[in-house]
Amino acid sequence: MEINNDKRTHCNEIETIEHLFYNCSQTKSFITQIVNWINRTCGKHYTFSIIDLLFGIPSIRLDKLIKITNWIIIYAKWYMYSCNLANEKLFLLRFLTDLKHHAILEKYVELIRKPDLENCIWDILLNEL
Ligand SMILES: [Zn+2]
Repeated sequence: MEINNDKRTHCNEIETIEHLFYNCSQTKSFITQIVNWINRTCGKHYTFSIIDLLFGIPSIRLDKLIKITNWIIIYAKWYMYSCNLANEKLFLLRFLTDLKHHAILEKYVELIRKPDLENCIWDILLNEL
């Protein structure tokens, strides 16, 4: 008797990090929508490789947009993982709504740490959500 302990994704593929966060057709479509939204919002022309999505975008300088973009990537991975567990589809509007609530919390945390802060990086994101 063969026992197969491989976990399956909502699309019935073997659950791997690469499939869940990059190779799945639903993921690719969702990531494309996020990248298009980021590029439209920030006036950039980002494309993300599998390495960028799995490990984040390397930043030699302290580029504020890279920091926020990496935060969005981390949050997107949490969202995709949660939707897979709940067997729910990925929706950009729901993701952006959740993203806004978390960005507000991040802003409060930053303002508590630095009460005299004049240019909060979270305002860059919150102004577009
Ligand atoms: Zn899939």
